[in-house]
Amino acid sequence: MSATLDLDLGRPGLCHGALRVAHSDDRSAYGEIVIPVAAVVGGAGPAVLLSAGIHGDEAEGPLALIRLIHALDPAVVAGTVIISPVMHHPAVKASRRTSPLDGGNLARCFPGDPRGSLTQRIAAAISSLLLPHVEAVLDLHGGGRTLEYIPCAWGRLNPEPALARRSLEALKALGQERTVVVGATAHGGTLTSESIAQGKVIAGTEIGGAGGVTPDTVAHAERAARRFLAHLGVLPPEPPLPTRLMTLKPPHFVRAPGRGLFDPAVTLGDTVRAGDPAGTLYDADRPWRTPEVLRFAADGLVVARGVPAMVEPGDVVVHLAEDTDEAALLP
Ligand SMILES: [Zn+2]
Repeated sequence: MSATLDLDLGRPGLCHGALRVAHSDDRSAYGEIVIPVAAVVGGAGPAVLLSAGIHGDEAEGPLALIRLIHALDPAVVAGTVIISPVMHHPAVKASRRTSPLDGGNLARCFPGDPRGSLTQRIAAAISSLLLPHVEAVLDLHGGGRTLEYIPCAWGRLNPEPALARRSLEALKALGQERTVVVGATAHGGTLTSESIAQGKVIAGTEIGGAGGVTPDTVAHAERAARRFLAHLGVLPPEPPLPTRLMTLKPPHFVRAPGRGLFDPAVTLGDTVRAGDPAGTLYDADRPWRTPEVLRFAADGLVVARGVPAMVEPGDVVVHLAEDTDEAALLP
């Protein structure tokens, strides 16, 4: 077995251990990638997984979940909370979106391959050793170094109507002002897609980014995690908070057509109309050239912005989401 879960879920209280994935390299012949995992085992109730750090440059979720490891009192937990705050540990240690060891993006590798690359083997270990223990999954993300998100609950719905309803209710319960539900993405391979394949209730977030955290973004992520547990009955109930139901489509993305310095015309939270300017692209090599105004192709709310001003062809410089309703989202 090239991966093991070293965690005693049969004993009440806080336990800690690790997901261990064999990694033999020049530094350590019989080495392992050691992904720390904690569990709070309380009374009768559901088992849930709280995940963060799938991308190593998004620290909002990891910090929120590490706070929870310290704060959760097993005496008030009804169920089992498995907390994996630094899921892609090699990437988190390097503050990188992808693995410094094999370049793998863990959010493109699920369900993984036990005989594949290191990142594929980490994904396979999560799929086969962590997910089977739980009925619901929360996966916290942010914009990382290259994007910044206004805080949003963020997820995809299961194809089965009953599970889709449960995942949507979980997303709406996360206490974020906006709840963005996306369709199946072309790339796939995410913890969300694997959780859906295994029939879990699944929710997530996109909160903050821009290369670092603020008290506000960590607080939003912690609120999402606590309210997810409260929604599932693991923690005492929280009063409902209003949220704006939104979705995302390809025309909502504004991409750079070429290399240049992008001078934005909008900021997070702005409401725009199709045809409005998103910003202006200047040629850094020939600054006297006529600049190009990039325009929105759809109406919507600015929910994310690209962070680096120097952009390459295909980079997302800003993206929108638009209002929707439950009838349009549920299968
Ligand atoms: Zn992410």
